[in-house]
Amino acid sequence: MLNGTTAEIKPREALRINPAKTCQPIGAMYAALGIHGCMPHSHGSQGCCAYHRSHLTRHFKEPVIATTSSFTEGASVFGGLANLNQALSNIFTIYNPEIVAVHTTCLSEVIGDDIPMMIKKSIEDGTIPKGKVVIHANTPSFVGSHVTGFANMTTAMVRYLAEKNGHRLFQLNLIPGFVDPADIRELKRIVAEMGVKAVVFPDTSGVLDLPQDGRYRMFPHGGTTIEELKSTGDSSCTIALGHFTSHPAATELDEKCGVGCAFLELPIGLTETDRFIHALRNYGGVDVPATIGDERGRLLDAMSDMHQYFHKKRVAIAGDPDHVIALTQFLSDLDMKPAYVITGSPGKHFEQRVTEILKDQVPDAVVKQNSDLFALHQWIKNAPVDLIIGNTYCKYIAREEKIPFVRFGFPVLDRMGHRYFPCVGYMGALRLMEKMNDALLDHKDRECADEYFELIQ
Ligand code: SF4
Repeated sequence: MLNGTTAEIKPREALRINPAKTCQPIGAMYAALGIHGCMPHSHGSQGCCAYHRSHLTRHFKEPVIATTSSFTEGASVFGGLANLNQALSNIFTIYNPEIVAVHTTCLSEVIGDDIPMMIKKSIEDGTIPKGKVVIHANTPSFVGSHVTGFANMTTAMVRYLAEKNGHRLFQLNLIPGFVDPADIRELKRIVAEMGVKAVVFPDTSGVLDLPQDGRYRMFPHGGTTIEELKSTGDSSCTIALGHFTSHPAATELDEKCGVGCAFLELPIGLTETDRFIHALRNYGGVDVPATIGDERGRLLDAMSDMHQYFHKKRVAIAGDPDHVIALTQFLSDLDMKPAYVITGSPGKHFEQRVTEILKDQVPDAVVKQNSDLFALHQWIKNAPVDLIIGNTYCKYIAREEKIPFVRFGFPVLDRMGHRYFPCVGYMGALRLMEKMNDALLDHKDRECADEYFELIQ
């Protein structure tokens, strides 16, 4: 419990308490699972790999596969070349993946292991069989966060695999960012509904949301294939969703293959989904079908019907920067007041973007990148909010301060909905509205005086 948190705020620069982030390899491991037939490989000690796998498994409630270079004292002194070579030999002999995606850890980064050289050596000595692929991303955890690791591995997919063959393909690239498989499934539904052909990468739908049929498949049917990743260099355009998770890969693709890009935020809520649909229409050369128009109309209807319950509600938001930026825009569309908006990931763009969104409606909002949940709790103690939105770790603050709480983002370790229901698109926005509305009204029903206890809301 956090009942030791004080309201008195003291200057604090070099210390994070209850950070609102985790380490880079977790993001890299998740991104790698979005390639079909891929074995994520952790180049470091077994403990790192075990933690990353278990953290992802707790969020997705699916077995998360990954292998490790199993560093011991010897590798720490002499480097991890022998470990990686032996690991690759074992992986291709025992598990036979199509591709191995290597990410580093703190230890291998501090040693300074040269992974491209190691991969080259493993190709030359035949450890990596012909036709198989190994890619890598550097993911030092003392820099950035899991969001940075995700972006680095997605960029590595482009760097190693994207090819330009000279004839443009009538397809778009869609980089969905660090979202749940249910979100990717919804994005693909919208794209198909719009009549646009797209290569979505990385794509963890069909990998981490498998139906139960009694059989275990180490490499499920989902994920972006290597051929699809190669073809991204000939696509007509890239739509990249999320400044922090997707824009670096889109920029790399533009520089490498000359594929132009639309840089958007995650399509969470009305405004950002409108921008996504507009980009699909423009770059896909299609009209918006009536079915999508109807979904938008239903969201608008709900926003006006329920406006009285959201109007001027003070909200604290914590989470990954791309999620929080898009959600802030949605809450602003709903006429709510995001009073505290934080992310644990570093990046000045976050503060600039959120401040710009809130400059007219909530000019005194506290907006912080590279922040933590302890600071958020202290601010709430000084000036409370009506609602907290964030990952599972925020529930300690919600319980201590008796504030309604909506789980959103990564990780959600104690509820199930995120695995099945999207938060992106117009339908996802409706679901978010329902969750917020339920949390606010449940709280009122529990806490209000008898004379305010209403049957009809
Ligand atoms: S912070 Fe570094 S040492 Fe700790 S689990 Fe992550 S990669 Fe491993």
